[in-house]
Amino acid sequence: MSRADLHTHTTASDGTGTPEENVRLAAEAGLKAVAITDHDTVGGIEEALEAGQRYGVQVVPGVEISTVRHGKDIHVLGYWLRHQDPQLLQRLAELREVRDRRNDMILQRLAELGISVTMQDVLDSLKTVKKQDETIGRPHIAEALVRKGYVSSMQEAFDRYLASGAAAYVNPPRIDPATGIAWILEAGGVPVLAHPGLYGQDELIGELAAVGLVGVEAFHSDHSPEQERHYEQLAARHGLLVTAGSDYHGSRNGVVFHAPIGARTVDVRVVQQLYECRGVQE
Ligand code: AMP
Ligand code: ZN
Ligand code: FE
Ligand code: FE
Repeated sequence: MSRADLHTHTTASDGTGTPEENVRLAAEAGLKAVAITDHDTVGGIEEALEAGQRYGVQVVPGVEISTVRHGKDIHVLGYWLRHQDPQLLQRLAELREVRDRRNDMILQRLAELGISVTMQDVLDSLKTVKKQDETIGRPHIAEALVRKGYVSSMQEAFDRYLASGAAAYVNPPRIDPATGIAWILEAGGVPVLAHPGLYGQDELIGELAAVGLVGVEAFHSDHSPEQERHYEQLAARHGLLVTAGSDYHGSRNGVVFHAPIGARTVDVRVVQQLYECRGVQE
């Protein structure tokens, strides 16, 4: 059994484990490989690569790019990209600017609803001090809502305020998924569509296959077994690789957010297949 979890978040974005901790947990779970896929940043990769050497776990450098199509958040995973590529870093910095504006808009919407959570409150909830290339996301805002007593759980924070369509949800214009794919390809990476079951836009898979998509994350902790089978078949129909990820985000107030590392895995042969699909552009 040589397995890989290809979707985890660290303190570089909205996970609660440091990159080193994620790698250690992967080793403890008996995994051969783990990917670091933080939202709109590659800031956790170097630490994870180092930890991978120490723990004997293969670390797959990755990213999860935020895009929008028909008003819905679509996440594109990128693997094996040149994570120090200046153009990639510049592009991710642009995505983080949109994200920061979006976060301010959410806080403003909350204020209009009589809920007083400031960016300082959000930052105060964090265990680590955010570096410039690390991202703040809705889970951090949810955590501040819990800490300030406006809701009693992360899930309630999302259901009432932060989920798509909820009271304080805002989604400013962002790049579309095809652009996210192009950026990953231009950084020599391998684009994979994250958790397609959350979008209700299955036609997306064929469309993106035509612009360089390589894989589909059929196995994800938010998918039902039926969805997993469905996307496995859809991927096969379009000649795409099938990947799996827990989307581990650490734990908050003792509750694992999403699923533990190793909850969804693929054979490490898929890691090799992804590697062989790397772009050749330098
Ligand atoms: P952001 O990138 O700031 O928009 O935040 C995205 C993250 O919020 C995702 O990775 C999930 O962890 C979390 N999230 C989004 N929607 C929900 C939801 N409906 N319920 C729970 N968590 C969610
Ligand atoms: Zn997240
Ligand atoms: Fe995602
Ligand atoms: Fe994710």
